[in-house]
Amino acid sequence: MPKNITVGDVDIEWLGHASFKFKAENKVIYVDPFKIPGGEKADIILVTHDHYDHCDPGSINSVKKPETIVIGPESCSSKIPEIREIKTGETISVKDIEIKAVPAYNIGKPYHPKGSGVGFVVKIAGKTIYHAGDTDRIPEMENLKNIDVALLPAGGTYTMSAEEAAEAANSIKPAIAIPMHWGKIIGSKEDAIKFKNLCKVEVKVLD
Ligand code: ZN
Ligand code: ZN
Repeated sequence: MPKNITVGDVDIEWLGHASFKFKAENKVIYVDPFKIPGGEKADIILVTHDHYDHCDPGSINSVKKPETIVIGPESCSSKIPEIREIKTGETISVKDIEIKAVPAYNIGKPYHPKGSGVGFVVKIAGKTIYHAGDTDRIPEMENLKNIDVALLPAGGTYTMSAEEAAEAANSIKPAIAIPMHWGKIIGSKEDAIKFKNLCKVEVKVLD
């Protein structure tokens, strides 16, 4: 299976777990780089929350250049002092890229209290990509419109299970859904396949 897809002019590469690289218009954006062995330098790095598998200073530093902008919630600022803080609901535009922080939290589980982390909606090269962060299926997802690609955690325990993630995908109705947060710490390929089978939208399982 491929580890990347191309949507319009945007290349989306899965780096494992919740970690992705988006490339378009000569810009490189990472989301939650984790245990990556360096790589292309970033223009923007987005961090969803302060858990070690999402906010990994070693990985961030390995793809950072002096002009890289690192954006994340206030909870990450002790690990990443240079972080540009973003609040839920806030939009930051960097050059031609629009980044909006959206809610991400657990319901009935203690791991991700409301307000500690975010998801991101990134608009780049005419495409809208939603990285859900670590979250359950939450009512605010109903507000997501015209999503081209939705990156949804499907590994269960700390986030949505495969079934819940498929329900989320079926209500968000992205053009393409990609399951994440499986294969490393929690969740298996079976979860990814189950997600795909339950979705009524197109699913790409990256590997
Ligand atoms: Zn987490
Ligand atoms: Zn996580």
